Amino acid sequence: MSKRTILALVAVAVLVVSSTTAGLMNPSPALAGGPVGFRALKGAEAAAFRVPADANRVSSASMARYGLTAERYQQYYGKALVLGAQLTVYRDAKGTNVAVIGAHYPKLDVRNQVKLNAKAAQSIVTKKLGADGEWFVDLMVDPETGIYFYRVENQRFDSRWFYWVDAQSGAVLNAYNGLTDGYGIGVLGDVKDLTGLTTYVSGAYKMISADGRQTTYDAGNRKKLPGTLASDSNDIWDLAGRTSPGQHALVDAHFYARVTDNYYLGTHSFNWLAYYPQGMVSSAHLGRNYANAYWNGSQMAYGDGDGVTFIEMCGDLDVVAHELSHGVTDATSDLIYSYESGALNEAFSDIMGTSIEFYYGTGNWTIGEDIMPTDDGIRDMADPTTDGDPSHYADRYTGTSDGGGVHTNSGIANHWFYLLVNGGQNANPLRASGTDVVGIGLSAAEQIVFLAFTGLPEDASYCDARAATIAVAGSYAANVADAWDEVGVDVALCGQ
Ligand SMILES: [Zn+2]
Repeated sequence: MSKRTILALVAVAVLVVSSTTAGLMNPSPALAGGPVGFRALKGAEAAAFRVPADANRVSSASMARYGLTAERYQQYYGKALVLGAQLTVYRDAKGTNVAVIGAHYPKLDVRNQVKLNAKAAQSIVTKKLGADGEWFVDLMVDPETGIYFYRVENQRFDSRWFYWVDAQSGAVLNAYNGLTDGYGIGVLGDVKDLTGLTTYVSGAYKMISADGRQTTYDAGNRKKLPGTLASDSNDIWDLAGRTSPGQHALVDAHFYARVTDNYYLGTHSFNWLAYYPQGMVSSAHLGRNYANAYWNGSQMAYGDGDGVTFIEMCGDLDVVAHELSHGVTDATSDLIYSYESGALNEAFSDIMGTSIEFYYGTGNWTIGEDIMPTDDGIRDMADPTTDGDPSHYADRYTGTSDGGGVHTNSGIANHWFYLLVNGGQNANPLRASGTDVVGIGLSAAEQIVFLAFTGLPEDASYCDARAATIAVAGSYAANVADAWDEVGVDVALCGQ
């Protein structure tokens, strides 16, 4: 069923409002006691919705696959971006709003003043991190606390720190590493067809696709990006070796980026180039025995693994697709990579990575299995508890490690998706409800996730994800709600 059909089936106009109660450490605007701005509208409520005057359009994406246009808006308070105040409006061909997901805060009670300029805020962070890398600074206001702050971002080859600096006092309010990493991967010796994926330039074949959408570099086992454009004299990329200049990792990074690009374009009408004019840029052979892969905000990077626990990190499609899906999140919902919004960010990447594996014909419910010679992967969506992750909200990790458990609490949404696709009950017998969720299959489920998650505001909670997915699910709304109930993101928690 197409997403268009899913939305067209929305028959009952129900206002779905999530009152978020999740215990995040982020100064989230949706916390109890603050102004509750989040909404997920469908039907008549969506049709009647008008974008508030203080929200500016930041993107407009045509989603032909769904017969929809998605427009995203950011609320401003003067020159400041309002934290978590993004709205995504889905319109059909007639211009009617069929769904609205996001948050807006009509009454802001601002309690401090902007005394520092952006440069001063950046220098406070420079004292902690040093001056290297690229810097981005935005003035923001938190609608819950009423505090003006600067969001200072620093991008380096293997870190992406965000500091929130009080715009009056200079105090650091929050800090997290937004580098969306996962693991390390490699090469399985299978042959891949690179037709159309290389270009003959000045005497050699380069790993630039003929249409310019994919470019792949060899980082030469150094910790510097992007490295040297991958090159071969006869266009047969068969040089063996886990480390540089071995070509298997380059082939996988390049080829799997293409598979991911084809999936997003064909299945969701998501055009990577509309957000990243440089295309999908990948570097393999990063560092020496480096067991990690990540999206750093502008490109992909893959280590070669240690050769024992992990082989080359780009050798598993679900890893490549997972990391590139972080780029999709960055371009759309921009979910903050810590605590609950970070867990949703991770879950989106696991869900899409797995959907892309199924699209390619090698689907399964584990993550990273192909790059771990002696293990069956790092996460399991069918039963997250196998890898120590929660399958139910009541079992969520509440500590501060791993950005507040972004790679752990993702298990709750991962298992929700598994149950939505396949049906059944919570894999943890202690949490199983006794009543089976009725599964809706992968095709409908992946569309619901794409539409809902890409529309979320940046600080979304699990309850927001529940409301958003129900709002776009059309005739599957009850299945979506039942699956959330089964993982503990239920009416008792969320109020709806
Ligand atoms: Zn990730």
